[in-house]
Amino acid sequence: MKELYLPINFKKRLTNLTAAPKEVNGALIYLPLDGVDVVVASRILGGGTSDALTSADPRMLSLANKFFEQNHTYGFVEFHTHTEETVRRHGIHYAFNLSDGDIETITRNYAGSKTYRHFLVTPNVLKLHKMEGNNVVPISYMTPKTVDKDQGLEKRIKNKFDKLHAEMGIPIFDLRMN
Ligand SMILES: [Zn+2]
Repeated sequence: MKELYLPINFKKRLTNLTAAPKEVNGALIYLPLDGVDVVVASRILGGGTSDALTSADPRMLSLANKFFEQNHTYGFVEFHTHTEETVRRHGIHYAFNLSDGDIETITRNYAGSKTYRHFLVTPNVLKLHKMEGNNVVPISYMTPKTVDKDQGLEKRIKNKFDKLHAEMGIPIFDLRMN
């Protein structure tokens, strides 16, 4: 697994989502470049409940799958948020950690995976995880300050998603990040 580069602008965008009233989940889309995976776009795929990890909209997942079928160069890292509200209601533990339910869901779906990665996004931290056998463990990543100034790539990805939304008759999630 290559190191992940999460440019600062995406880090800010994700952190901003934790001020929303409800938790969301989604995908960070990366492009393998010069030996590292660089995040170049992000999409929200579901949420609006108190347990964002398990609430990805099945229609959005099939749409995302179609995108990756059609665009082999890209990969994705999952994420879900714990909002300010989550932390206020359930305690500071959730500002820094996955919930037991999160760990259970991830383990059930991805135990043994050598490629799965997941970002927990809270008002306090952006914590990346991978599977190590049956365990969900934190791993490091880089947050470069300088990013490709060309916004063309993200625009192109957005257009492809918009096209799929139209073709498949699936509305775009309200809190989409672009
Ligand atoms: Zn969670």
